[in-house]
Amino acid sequence: MSLLRLENITKTYHLGEIDVPVLKGISFTVERGELVALMGASGSGKSTLMNVLGCLDRPTSGKYWLDGQEISSLSANDRALVRTAKLGFVFQSFNLLPRTTAVNNVLMPLDYSTTAPPIREALERSHSLLERVGLGSRLDHIPSQMSGGQQQRVAIARSLINQPALLLADEPTGNLDSQTSVEILEMFQQLNAAGLTVMLVTHDPKVAAYADRVIRVVDGLIVEDDHGGRTIDVTKQQRPARERIDAGVPAAEQLQPAAAIAAIEEPESELTAASAGGTAVAVRPKTVAATVAPKPAAAAPAVSKIHLGLASLVPGPLRTAFTALRRNKMRSALTALGVIIGVGAVIAMVEISQGSRTSLMATMSTMGANTIMVRSGAAASGGISFGSGTLLTLTPGDSEEIAREATAIAAAAPVVQIQGQVVYGNRNWIPMSVYGTTPNYLEIRDWEQLEEGEMFNDRDVRNANKVCVIGTTLVKELFDGQSPLGEDIRVKNVSLRVVGVLGRKGSNMMGMDQDDVILAPWTTIKYRVADNSAAAEVAATSSNSTEVNSLNELYPGSTELYPVQSATQLANTPQPVRFTNIDQISVKARSAADIPVAMDEITSILRQRHRIRPGGTDDFNLRDMGEMVKAMGSMSEMMGGLLMIVALISLVVGGVGIMNIMLVSVTERTREIGLRMAVGARSHHILRQFLIEAIVLCVFGGAIGILLGRTASYAVWLAMRWPVEASLPAIIGAFLVSATIGVAFGFYPAWKASRLDPIEALRYE
Ligand code: ADP
Ligand code: MG
Repeated sequence: MSLLRLENITKTYHLGEIDVPVLKGISFTVERGELVALMGASGSGKSTLMNVLGCLDRPTSGKYWLDGQEISSLSANDRALVRTAKLGFVFQSFNLLPRTTAVNNVLMPLDYSTTAPPIREALERSHSLLERVGLGSRLDHIPSQMSGGQQQRVAIARSLINQPALLLADEPTGNLDSQTSVEILEMFQQLNAAGLTVMLVTHDPKVAAYADRVIRVVDGLIVEDDHGGRTIDVTKQQRPARERIDAGVPAAEQLQPAAAIAAIEEPESELTAASAGGTAVAVRPKTVAATVAPKPAAAAPAVSKIHLGLASLVPGPLRTAFTALRRNKMRSALTALGVIIGVGAVIAMVEISQGSRTSLMATMSTMGANTIMVRSGAAASGGISFGSGTLLTLTPGDSEEIAREATAIAAAAPVVQIQGQVVYGNRNWIPMSVYGTTPNYLEIRDWEQLEEGEMFNDRDVRNANKVCVIGTTLVKELFDGQSPLGEDIRVKNVSLRVVGVLGRKGSNMMGMDQDDVILAPWTTIKYRVADNSAAAEVAATSSNSTEVNSLNELYPGSTELYPVQSATQLANTPQPVRFTNIDQISVKARSAADIPVAMDEITSILRQRHRIRPGGTDDFNLRDMGEMVKAMGSMSEMMGGLLMIVALISLVVGGVGIMNIMLVSVTERTREIGLRMAVGARSHHILRQFLIEAIVLCVFGGAIGILLGRTASYAVWLAMRWPVEASLPAIIGAFLVSATIGVAFGFYPAWKASRLDPIEALRYE
């Protein structure tokens, strides 16, 4: 069976309306082990034919068998598989990967091979191939550090790494000087001698002279196939190379072990089968292999040099991406900068807004985030409302019943509120609030921690004892920071003994000082302080003035018009002052989530106690801090959201930057893509490569961005003491988002790269 057989291959290019027939019916066969030159003037269609032979292109018509397999009907991907399995390419312009070592250039085709050996073996193979082409001492050189001839040798080693059945070389000496050309051509002869089938494309008769057989193409047709007579000349053609070997010319010498390794793993049986076909050519390789066989030790040094770095642990595609990115360090860094800034901004924003929200929540909980205020309803007269609290309907009993009956509340306390001056010694002060309440008011306000002393107790409430606890602001204003415990202060002329100092709470959201407060038993405030004006006046007019001021007796006008009530009268006709209404009830729900339930319970308890018929209006109002908490929370959430959007926009901008650079990179590396496809990369390999590059950029950018964001928010905390809070979900989220951006914005360039036509890409300037 012939290695390749062409039957009436034609190729016509369509340039708009015009058909350009380039190949006009080419038929020939090539046996294994042949060294064929395809010769013709420039423009005669040699490269076109070569592309068909190399499974890079499809013929317009005709059939092509390679190694028994019909190729012209295969899909692009299947042709790529044929290329990795059976073909090696050497190009006029070397087409090495720039800034990539010789070894890695040689290894590259294995990335796409379906039968790639493990990394150590692959390295061994690439080292011995480089030894074989005479570059044993240039393993880690990059193309720019090598001469044209050396580069072409690397390219030849690369074409052999997949142990191809057929080596296709399109003008391999076109860019080389004549001396180097001779070396390269002799190398082809050596390879051919070791059993490899070589197809040499050239316009130069001197180059063609190195072949056993010359197929001459003129205008897309074979005009001569110089086959028969040449087989005898083969030994003569071979001679120059042999002489070199004997003379010990280095390049040729290093070529010897290569033959011994016989990377050309053409089974000998097939060669013999070919020779049975009658060509003398096929016999030759066996004899050459035999002559060089006794010197296999020469390959050893190369193998011993192999050291597997950490890099070999990284999967191939990822390594390729790293290499590509490293080739353009500055550009990669600048590209990633967009993502770095974007992710950094996102992280900083999230941390700052989260921190401020948390501190806001903390502030609000000091104000009692779960509190519900029950106030008495509005009195109305003749359609005019007097506002909330003007109906005196709430009683301490209501508070007690709520505390007892409602399940969703933690505590309830009655509150009586007054305004007035506080005096201690020669100082005075008007506190923001003077509250009469019960001890569990502290629980409702989350204020259990007292700075010193203790809260008044239930007995004080029952007995209306003249005690109070005061906030730290009063301690400062009245006591100059001295301990006020045991001292008496006078609230609206009633002296109350200070038994405790409330813990510091700071100002609330409205900027009101929460520590500017006096708490006393509600009974004390209600009956002793609030009413002392009325009671004291009565006392003053009834007794004191008449008894102390003797002048009173001089004037008959002092006779009381409205005599003071006697004790009996008082008992029989209760005065409004003894009516035990309170201003409000403070209730604490078990949790913020329980607030609605608690409010329902309070409503039904109060309606029942106040005997309000179904459909009647409530004589009380409920207000919960939850509303405020929600409002403040949603405000800070909105701010956070806005900042987040800005940060996300910057991430998208970063993504666009990545897309832009990836597109540039695809264009810039068109030839590389073409080369990779020629050596067998299928379109998904190319897609994957560029996608991974984009993702690696983004993920790296993301990681650095996270660090940057953390640093930024820490700096903000240091500089401005804004509360910040590290957020793991944000970090994970930012990481995922940046990877997603890599995929989203890297996909188009990668897709574009994968759609490239290998021939066009190889020809791209
Ligand atoms: P050479 O023998 O010099 O390698 P080619 O095979 O490259 O010649 O080209 C043969 C002819 O086909 C040339 O005339 C060239 O203009 C034409 N040709 C090659 N590729 C294309 C293409 N993609 N589109 C149109 N014409 C093409
Ligand atoms: Mg050409």
